[in-house]
Formats: sequence, C-alpha cells, structure tokens
Amino acid sequence: ESAQNRIAAGEVVERPASAVKELAENSLDAGARRIEITLADGGRTLIRVADDGHGIPHDQLELALERHATSKTDGEDLLDIGSFGFRGEALPSIAAVSRFTLTSRAESAEEAWTLRCDAGRLGRPTPAALPRGTVAEARDLFHATPARLKFLRTDRAETQAAADMVRRLAMAAPQVGFVLRDATGAEGTEGRVLFRADPEPGSPQEARRARLARILGRAFEADALEIEAEREGLRLTGLAALPTHSRGAAVAQFLFVNGRPVRDKLLTGALRAAYSDVLHSGRHPAAALYLDCDPHLVDVNVHPAKTEVRFRAPGIARGLVVSALRHALAAAGH
Ligand code: ADP
Ligand code: MG
Repeated sequence: ESAQNRIAAGEVVERPASAVKELAENSLDAGARRIEITLADGGRTLIRVADDGHGIPHDQLELALERHATSKTDGEDLLDIGSFGFRGEALPSIAAVSRFTLTSRAESAEEAWTLRCDAGRLGRPTPAALPRGTVAEARDLFHATPARLKFLRTDRAETQAAADMVRRLAMAAPQVGFVLRDATGAEGTEGRVLFRADPEPGSPQEARRARLARILGRAFEADALEIEAEREGLRLTGLAALPTHSRGAAVAQFLFVNGRPVRDKLLTGALRAAYSDVLHSGRHPAAALYLDCDPHLVDVNVHPAKTEVRFRAPGIARGLVVSALRHALAAAGH
C-alpha cells in the first residue's frame, strides 16, 4: 500500500469510532434493518459490523475496496445525495490500515463471497457462508502504522467514543435496530452488550421521538422541551434539556442534518447562543436536534469525515436554532 493511500486513510479513519461510523453508514445505505457492531480491545484488535442490507454482488466485491469506487453517485450532482457515502473512500481507507475482510451475500444470490485485504494487499474472492447481508471486519487496526496506533487513547476511551458514535447513528436511523457488543477476551462467545436499540415502529417522526426518549433516558426527556419550528424551507425538531441539566458538552449535544449526525460549528454555536442567558457557568446546553431541508440547501461534501456541513443560507439555519430554542426556554419560564 502506498504511503499516499495510508495518509489519505488517516483522514477518514483516525480511530476505531470513525471506522465504526463509516461501516455502519454503509449498512444504512444498504437498507439494513438491523446492524450488529462488535469491538474488541477498544476496536484495536477487532471491529466488526454485520448487517441485513442488500449486500454486494460477487463481481463488485473487489470494486468496493478500490479507491473512489462508489455505487452511490454518478458524480454529476454531488449535492443531491440521499445516502451517507458517496466518495468511495471508506472501505479502501480502512482496508489500507487493517487486516480487512468483506463478506457479503447479495439479495437473491445463491451464495456469499468473502474478500480479504491485508494492509491494502487485496486477495481473491472465495465462497463463504452467510445467510444475508454484509459483514465487514477490520482486525488489528493501524498494525502497519505504529505512529497512528500511538495516538489511540485507552481501550476504555476508544470503546466509549465508538459507543457514542453508535448512539448518534441510532438516533439518526430510528427505524433501524442497533446492537453494540464488547467481545474483549470473549473467545467463542458474542460478547457483552454495551448498547441495544430495537427498531422503532411508527412514522419517521414518531420513530425519532421514541428513539430520542429511549437513548437520552427519562431524566433528559421528562422535563425536556419539545422543539418544533420551521423557517424558509428548514425544519427543526427534537428535544432540548432545561438548563438545570449539567452534562459534558460532547455527550449531550446530538445534531442531525437531513438524518446525518454532524458536529457542526455553526449549529453548536447557535445552541450556545440560544442558552447563553440562562446557563450558569460550567454548564453546557443539552439537546438533540434534527434539522431537515431540501438537499440543495446544504452541502455535506465539505470534509472527508462528513461531519461538517455548509448551509446555503447559514444565517437562516443559525437564526432558526437560536429563535426556536429561546422561544422554548422562555415558554418554560427561563
Ligand atoms: P461509499 O460509501 O462512499 O460509496 P465505501 O468505500 O464506504 O464508499 O463503500 C464502497 C462501496 O461498497 C459502496 O458504494 C457500496 O457499493 C459497497 N458497500 C460497502 N459496504 C456495504 C454494505 N454494508 N452493504 C452493501 N454494500 C456495501
Ligand atoms: Mg461509505
């Protein structure tokens, strides 16, 4: 594997949580209804994502591991993208820095196939046993790039970061079931369940609500403020906690743009501004907010990790968040 590919890989995969994100997003793109994620040793020795999605046809397995091979856009209209992936970077990037195995059974195919890729060296597809969907497995992440390995935090911290990522994805896709397991030292067994969310029934809006309540827990939900507002084609919904809640900033802000988890400066800034008059020092706003709009009003093609977005009208997005939250806080007597 070329040094250039390994450097490019670092942009997409900086730690186990980012690999989990990319693999689980592929599962969502494949229409999965259930996604099972397994980690061992904080993801350093094992990251496995198994789904029941539409799978990969035998003749496209190798293509899936080639750089800039994506089945998701013809490259003409990068803004009009309904799926998470569209760069064709994730699988080759992860395969460049791990011992990677991709096993898949395409819908209606009679058999499954598996393909190994060791630090970027591609093998040949061989028949495999898999009833449906896709299993992507990355073992020994960064084993060929010790410098990157050194930047990983403790297993516990990496596991927590991955779990946080899974929670965000579960909020983004409430109609999909998620299970996260820790299989550290669990030779031959499935491992310990760290997180589980069954598919939420009902309309997409009902499912979002139910999943927020489930994941954020009763404490957050019981006295949380319902947010629902609209401005010039942007729609904001979700829950905001009252300023009495004291939580760390990172763990209590969940932002989604068109169903994608984002960590966007404009939106977190808007959140801070909305709470600025009511928060005591050392406290952080806590909220889970979905911003939905026409895909042409927002550009997600800004950063390889796709967590930053660019709005066509940033002022309107910011104004919507600030005014909706201030309004809700004021209505609740703050
Ligand atoms: P992207 O998601 O940007 O297209 P990736 O490198 O993440 O690029 O994946 C490459 C291709 O492999 C995808 O376009 C898709 O065709 C296929 N693929 C990857 N993971 C899955 C999966 N879990 N189920 C079905 N197809 C998949
Ligand atoms: Mg992808």
